[in-house]
Amino acid sequence: MATREPTVDAARAVEGLRELRRLTGDEDGAQRVAWTDTWIAARDWLRAELDAIDGVTVETDQAGNTWATAPGDSDRFVIIGGHMDSVPDGGWLDGVLNVLAGLEVLRALAPEPRALTLKLVDWADEEGARFGRSLLGSSACAGTLDPDRVRDLTDRDGVTLPDALAAHGVDLDRAGESGERLEGALAYLELHIEQGPVLERLDLPLGVVLGTFGVQRHRVRFKGAHAHAGATPMDVRRDAFLAAARSALAFRDDALAREDVRATVGGVTVSPGIVTAFNGLCELTLDQRALDPEVLADMLATAQEASRRIAAEEGCEVAWERIWEIEPIRFDDQLIDIADAVVEDVAGTSHRLPSGPLHDAAEMARRVPTVMLFVKSLGGVSHTKEEDTPAEDLETSVRALGELTRRTLAWAEASGS
Ligand SMILES: [Zn+2]
Repeated sequence: MATREPTVDAARAVEGLRELRRLTGDEDGAQRVAWTDTWIAARDWLRAELDAIDGVTVETDQAGNTWATAPGDSDRFVIIGGHMDSVPDGGWLDGVLNVLAGLEVLRALAPEPRALTLKLVDWADEEGARFGRSLLGSSACAGTLDPDRVRDLTDRDGVTLPDALAAHGVDLDRAGESGERLEGALAYLELHIEQGPVLERLDLPLGVVLGTFGVQRHRVRFKGAHAHAGATPMDVRRDAFLAAARSALAFRDDALAREDVRATVGGVTVSPGIVTAFNGLCELTLDQRALDPEVLADMLATAQEASRRIAAEEGCEVAWERIWEIEPIRFDDQLIDIADAVVEDVAGTSHRLPSGPLHDAAEMARRVPTVMLFVKSLGGVSHTKEEDTPAEDLETSVRALGELTRRTLAWAEASGS
């Protein structure tokens, strides 16, 4: 093992994934929920693997994130990130592929002489499965976690988030000090399963992620007047459900006419909701997503305009109330180009796509030039035990992350110092 073999052992990463599935999963799937014993077992496994790499040091930061460092001549560094935690009954690849791929890259590159330092981070509690707050460790590091907004969160058994963290040596009020770790960071890289159907439909193993969608989430209330289903002629009705239904179709058609955006009417309630009357009230929730902030703003304006026109045509009124919003987060243009070239070299063809789900990379992109690779997900399925990707595609993705790391180190060395 003392040979200076720089090749990334992609097959070993896949073996590691299978071993972790045995150690931390059961017949219902992965059980590595953050701040539980099974999660700790997975992290202990990782720690042992990292400790066995010559010259690599391992530390845990104030937010519970694990950092492994392979030093170079300079303290400035490139980061590879992932998360060992899963949802309950989760998939065997989500998050942990990133970490195990990063482990192999670190193992391959650590013995090589290098100008820059290379780090691997295992973020704490990406999924938010126990307390409902996703991206906990990475947002603490990025400086976007407000302790007061998560202090009162409890799990199903009534345990508070601060107590669960404290049981693992993490003081919520000091978690933000994790951000000191980013001093000297030049780039952040993450490999993740796509969790959607796009790459499989294109029959491609890998894609380059442009960024994560911005989200506009609203409650849309249509108000007419309910009346008797038999007594009220069709042309005098003020049917709030029909106004809402026509609007929902307009939202869908608008999204269909644009490139790579989403519009979803999820929640629908009507009142009075009985068989002998039409409805005087109907409330929808609308979730709109796009990568371009101007497109997202235009989608919202278009939807509001359509709902007002349709409501008027149906003799109804409409009111909008924002539930939640987050801005789109674009990854770094230069790193996207580098990743694109890597994917073409390693997999033959590349494809650029936005990410629907949020990832730790979205938090890092606020602070450090960032890019992500996606590897195909079979059936577009994730967060279930059916989550899968062919082994050969997993191996290709690990090799691609290795090559991306090399080229990013060279890019950061040339541009960052
Ligand atoms: Zn994930």
